Amino acid sequence: MTGFTPDLLNRCIACGFCLPACPTYALTKDETSSPRGRIDLMRALDEGTLPADDPRVREEASFCLGCRACETVCPAGVQYGDLLEEWRDQQWQGSGRPLVARLLMILVDARWRVRLLGLLRRHARTRGGRPEGPSLMLGCFERALFPKVSRAARRLFPELAAPAAQGCCGALHAHNGDSARGRRMAEELGRRLPGTIVTTSGGCAAHLSSVLGRDRVKELSRYAYERDMPGGAEPSRPAAETPPGGVPAETADRPRVALQDSCHLRNGLDVWREPRAMLERIGTYVELPSAGTCCGAAGTYALVRPRDSRRVLDAKLDEIEAAGVDYVAVVNPGCYRQLDQGLRRRKSRVRAVHLAELLAGERPRRREP
Ligand code: SF4
Ligand code: SF4
Repeated sequence: MTGFTPDLLNRCIACGFCLPACPTYALTKDETSSPRGRIDLMRALDEGTLPADDPRVREEASFCLGCRACETVCPAGVQYGDLLEEWRDQQWQGSGRPLVARLLMILVDARWRVRLLGLLRRHARTRGGRPEGPSLMLGCFERALFPKVSRAARRLFPELAAPAAQGCCGALHAHNGDSARGRRMAEELGRRLPGTIVTTSGGCAAHLSSVLGRDRVKELSRYAYERDMPGGAEPSRPAAETPPGGVPAETADRPRVALQDSCHLRNGLDVWREPRAMLERIGTYVELPSAGTCCGAAGTYALVRPRDSRRVLDAKLDEIEAAGVDYVAVVNPGCYRQLDQGLRRRKSRVRAVHLAELLAGERPRRREP
C-alpha cells in the first residue's frame, strides 16, 4: 500500500514527546496506540511490510481520535492530522469504512438532504446571502440537533446572513476516508457563501480554513474577539481560576463557567484564548485541568467506538462535576452532544451550553438532581 506524502511520513524523529499528550495512549499505555506507534504502522504500510488488513492496522486507524493533540507538542512539526487523513483515505474504502460513517456521509453529501435535516427545526435563516458576506455557516447536523445555536449567533451578530441553501462543509468526509470529496464540498460551500464565513463549529472551522484559507473562515469566538464584543474592555482578571475545594454560591448574574475546547480549533487553528476571553466577560471562568483534551466526541468516533468514547469522557465528567461550575461551554456541536448526553446520564446539575448561547444571554436552568 502506498499513498503517504513522503515529507509528512519522514518527518517523525521518533522522540516520543507526543506520547503523554495522546488520550488513547493514556488509556492503554501501549506504544501501538500512540502517535509514534501509529506512524510506525503507516511506515510499515508504505513499505509493504504490513498488509492493510493486519488487525493492528485496522484497529489503530479507528482507535485514534484524530484530535491532533500530538501535533502541538511535536518538535519536528509532524502534521499528524494530514497523515491520518491519508491513512484513512487508503484504509477506509468501501466496506473498510465503518458503516455509521458511511451512512452519515451519504446523508450530508447532497445539499437538499442537508436542507431537509433542518426543515423541522427553527434554525437561523435569512433570504439569500450578500455578495460581500459575512455569512453564518449553518452546518449539517448542528442545524438539526442544536438549531438554537445559529439563532443565538444571529442575535449576537445580526449582520450575518444565514441562507438555508448551503450544504455540509465536507469535514465529515475528510475525516472518514474521502478527503478529496471533503475538499470539493468545502470549495462548493465557499462559492455559496462569499466573503467571510463565520461558524459555530470548531471542527468545521479547521477543515474549511484548510481549504479556503484562515482569513476567510472565522470560528465564532474568533470573530467576536476581532470585532470586539459589546460589553467592555479586554478581561483584566487572570485567565483561569483553579477549581476550589469549597465552591462559592452561584450568583445570579455571574455564573461559574468552564470550557471544553474543540480539538481541531485549538490544535489545528490555535484558537483557545478567544473563547476564554469571551466567557470571562459573562461569568467567573474556571479552567478545567483537561479542557484542552478530547472529550471523546471526535466527529463520528462516539458512534463508531462508543465504548472507548465513554472511557475518554468519564474522567472529564468527573472533573466538570468537581469544579462546581454551573455551565460547561462548548464551541463545537459534537462536543455539545457528547457532554450534554454524558451530564444527563449522570443526572448532573451542570449544563452543557454553546458559547453563542451564553454570550447571547441565555442561561439554561440547572437541572434538579
Ligand atoms: S513528537 Fe513528533 S517527532 Fe516525536 S515521536 Fe511524536 S510525532 Fe514523532
Ligand atoms: S490524533 Fe489524538 S488520539 Fe490520535 S495519535 Fe494524535 S493525540 Fe493520539
